[in-house]
Amino acid sequence: MKLLAASLLSLAVSSALAGTAPRFDPQQLSEMVKTLSSDEFEGRAPASAGETRTVEYLAEQMRAAGLQPGGDLGADGKRGWTQAVPLLRAEIVGAPSLSVAVGGQPQPLAQGGQIAVRAALDGSKAVSIANAPLVFAGYGVKAAERNWDDFKGVDLRGKIAVVLINDPDFETGQGDFGGPAMTYYGRWTYKYEEAARQGALGLLIVHETAPASYGWATVKNSNTNTMFDVVREQPGAVHPRMEGWLQRDFAVDLFRRAGLDFEALKRQAQTRAFQPVELKGVTLSADYAVDSKVITSHNVVGRIEGRKRPDETVIYTAHWDHLGVGQPDAKGDRIYNGAVDNATGTAALLALGRAFAHAKPRPERSLVFLAVTAEEKGLLGSEYYASRPLYPLATTVGVINMDALNPQGPAHDFTISGSAKLELLDNLVATAKRWDLRYTPDSKPEAGYFFRSDHFPFAKRGVPAISYGSGNDWVDGGVVAGKAAGEAYTADRYHQPADQWEASWTFTGMSRELQVLYTLGSELAHGKRWPNWDAGSEFRAARDASAEQRK
Ligand SMILES: [Zn+2]
Repeated sequence: MKLLAASLLSLAVSSALAGTAPRFDPQQLSEMVKTLSSDEFEGRAPASAGETRTVEYLAEQMRAAGLQPGGDLGADGKRGWTQAVPLLRAEIVGAPSLSVAVGGQPQPLAQGGQIAVRAALDGSKAVSIANAPLVFAGYGVKAAERNWDDFKGVDLRGKIAVVLINDPDFETGQGDFGGPAMTYYGRWTYKYEEAARQGALGLLIVHETAPASYGWATVKNSNTNTMFDVVREQPGAVHPRMEGWLQRDFAVDLFRRAGLDFEALKRQAQTRAFQPVELKGVTLSADYAVDSKVITSHNVVGRIEGRKRPDETVIYTAHWDHLGVGQPDAKGDRIYNGAVDNATGTAALLALGRAFAHAKPRPERSLVFLAVTAEEKGLLGSEYYASRPLYPLATTVGVINMDALNPQGPAHDFTISGSAKLELLDNLVATAKRWDLRYTPDSKPEAGYFFRSDHFPFAKRGVPAISYGSGNDWVDGGVVAGKAAGEAYTADRYHQPADQWEASWTFTGMSRELQVLYTLGSELAHGKRWPNWDAGSEFRAARDASAEQRK
């Protein structure tokens, strides 16, 4: 009897839901992914012919969907479909001259060998460093809310700081930084920013595979080629002149030659009492020119103005860019089509825009559909928007990002990039439950995936933000099938020309996931709630600082 009542009730709930969340046509999703990842779009590289096509297509789709242009204001005072995103592109000219001297004895360093130095992003056209002292500064963390300061006021002007990767309790497994899970203090981007704030001339991060979550090959490949950044008014405020990595064994030896024990110092760095130490008798010299220029790419922005509170905004994001045309694969294919990464998320964004444009009544708050550029260059389109928001961040309710969704059948679960504690995730978990989708937390929180997706530039500034990810526990074949597909994708397609559209993709999983993501955004856009970060989150203080503007 009781059972029957319960099942009747759940039936009633699900049919009521079916009435509120629109149906997302798998065929339409497939068509959009097919178009965006076709060879005509040339792999969608920023500032290329592929960008021109992509931006035109997205604006046209948004217009047809019934969205309003939500981008930059034109000379006529009207908004266009795009936000111009100027990007700094920097490259070291030739092989950089790099060396360390121990006790006055210089030793040349091979770029990509003992050291990996990034092209300067502080605006320098040339870097010339003569015998700069090296200072070990623990994990390079200054976290007021955790009463933690690795610098202790040490003067880093004219000096190169040397720090460890990840955060101080990664190895000990418990402490003030969430145990093995990585906080933002563990991410290399943070470490460069903090070093710039500390006035350091340079920062070198000692690479270790476990805390970095990737090997030296990755460090070498992603730091010794062309660098990109958003164009900043004061690039030196977030970039020290020299940014780079040291190979671990080389660093350990360098410490030894300075009379220091690397492992012992690391243990000290895992405590609050740590004091920075100079590597006595060790200096670093560098000489190289940097070819830097500004290129312009674009975010594409569609909007629905809120009926009652237009200044309050719910944002959906997905990056439209991919890797463009590059090195050929074994078949001679040079176009990196980026079907899963991220034509899927971009198609999802368009489909959500269309659904909301038809919503009756129109939501009380505004909705923005933001297709960002240059994710593949380091989350730059989203960073640019967050640094120059078209709609105020203080009254941005939340950001829901979609990157590389599963184009195949449905799963029993979903995930988010990385781990974080915030109400927006609680809301997503509760909403997904209504579609029988359960939350599977990121299985590798120590890898810091939370900081590697387009929601992050918003989160960093306090805006509640998450990046949705498809689950592995497939309805058809379970975890075995889901994991096998994931591993095959990583091995054979991820960031390769073979990431291409397949006629066999059903898009039935995405179709259901979009109902969940629609409902999550719809409830925020029709309501008055301001979800926040949990107490103790490193992003809570930034959000609370603007609380007055949400009354
Ligand atoms: Zn990618």
